[in-house]
Amino acid sequence: MSKKDSPKPKGKPTTSVKKSRPTRPPRVKMNEQPPAIRVKNFEEVPFGLTPEQARLEASRCLQCKRPKCVEGCPVQVQIPDFIALIAEGKFVEAACKIKETNVLPAVCGRVCPQETQCEATCILGRRHEPVAIGYLERFCADFERLGGHVELPKKAKPNGKKVAIVGSGPSGLTVAGDLALLGYQVTIFEAFHKGGGVLVYGIPEFRLPKEIVEKEIHYLERLGVEIKYNHVIGKCKTINELLTRDGFDAVFIGVGAGLPRFMNIPGENLNGVYSANEYLTRSNLMKAYLFPDYNTPVIKGSKVIVVGGGNVAMDCARTALRLGANKVTLVYRRAREQMPARAEEVHHAEEEGIIFKLLANPVEIIGDEQGNVCRVKCQNYTLGEPDASGRRRPIPIENSFFELEADLVIIAIGNNANPLIPQSTKEIKTNKWGNIITDPIGRTSMKRVYAAGDIVTGAATVISAMGGGRLAAKAIHFDLMGVSDPMITTACQLPKEDE
Ligand code: FAD
Ligand code: SF4
Repeated sequence: MSKKDSPKPKGKPTTSVKKSRPTRPPRVKMNEQPPAIRVKNFEEVPFGLTPEQARLEASRCLQCKRPKCVEGCPVQVQIPDFIALIAEGKFVEAACKIKETNVLPAVCGRVCPQETQCEATCILGRRHEPVAIGYLERFCADFERLGGHVELPKKAKPNGKKVAIVGSGPSGLTVAGDLALLGYQVTIFEAFHKGGGVLVYGIPEFRLPKEIVEKEIHYLERLGVEIKYNHVIGKCKTINELLTRDGFDAVFIGVGAGLPRFMNIPGENLNGVYSANEYLTRSNLMKAYLFPDYNTPVIKGSKVIVVGGGNVAMDCARTALRLGANKVTLVYRRAREQMPARAEEVHHAEEEGIIFKLLANPVEIIGDEQGNVCRVKCQNYTLGEPDASGRRRPIPIENSFFELEADLVIIAIGNNANPLIPQSTKEIKTNKWGNIITDPIGRTSMKRVYAAGDIVTGAATVISAMGGGRLAAKAIHFDLMGVSDPMITTACQLPKEDE
């Protein structure tokens, strides 16, 4: 008789023996600067994990046979493998494992929205808090960098092909790294005097120290990538000239979406109104927060209004606070749960005392006799039915106007594609928003020219730009060398060799 068939004992059971699940330590908490101190400096807010914390957190991972976390990662970092190495205390090996698929681990560990990607799909997260994958990624990249010796992966022999990359943001850096490893001679042309794209001119020091981006770029240079700064392609030379006169076999375009969007309301040309791009570029790239030691000043408002609800808006608001503002108000036309900013950034901004004026939008910026901004007239909003983005549509409420005092207004409502390259290269087709049109693996309408990142998708995320870059690198390798890869076969369903 099987156990299942055996008769149940009569009467009340005296004790029920329940099998308890193994207990898991709670998710690790990262130490950080207290809000009252950090609003007075530009130093990084979280301190990172200690080796003991990292190993403890790594021990929470279930080492799933079918790890959902990898599916949630746009560049398919082999997450359980690197976590297993951390659990064994092999931190440098863990960093090398990540770098097999991600050339910017210290950056991604800091700025990726893990809560909507790998951590959102983590199987442990179904019953407990998910593994802190982002913290662990940051930990091993930092451990390797601070140890002073960053390992270089094995490179293929030079294959005699030259590729030009336009733009040194995350998409361009990814293509450069992948192709350098495959034996290509890679040259990046960058418009600014520093590399990294938004990572250096947009995201502030207190979220992503610039030294880290510099080190990641140095790593690419050690791989043999050449970077030519102060080269605005479309002005100093065209894409056609790169292909014909300069002899590049292929060109990758990763110029981002750097054209600021405005609201088109009265008063946007007053003194004291900045686009988020100008405000952050002055502060980050030109080091305005260290003025007069550095040459570029920026208006340091006392009553600051930031318009928008994304990462860019949070960065502007928190920068204004650190530059000495008494009151910073963020005006956003939707509700809090619809804010596109990372949850951690919203949390940090609130802790630091940023005031959220939600379901409201400016209708006019009002100036004084000297043409300086002094007030912002706003209107209250309510939420209607979901729009094309799936979020409930914000609807203005009639006659619900109010005014906020302001001496600095920063517009952070998004960016459009930079038109310079398509204007100077008519063969490259764009959509109605000016974004370059590509096939699923980054080929543009012009032969031997590829594109990815924000210039293709519109303003998105670091990791999606890197994911697009990775596919484009594989497409270039396929087109120039005839070497296929399962990733591009899946993306564009190329016929298999034996079909
Ligand atoms: P970019 O990073 O924009 O880089 C493009 C590069 O091309 C720049 O260096 C530019 O100077 C150069 N360039 C432009 N035109 C030319 C030309 N004609 N010739 C030569 N070079 C040229 N994403 C996240 O995942 N997490 C975050 O926390 C986050 N925070 C953000 C905060 C801010 C303030 C901003 C603006 C964006 C943020 N993002 C964040 C979005 C993310 O940074 C971008 O999606 C990503 O950087 C896009 O990468 P990219 O390679 O397409 O272009
Ligand atoms: Fe570990 Fe979560 Fe990935 Fe499973 S899904 S391997 S628990 S990180």
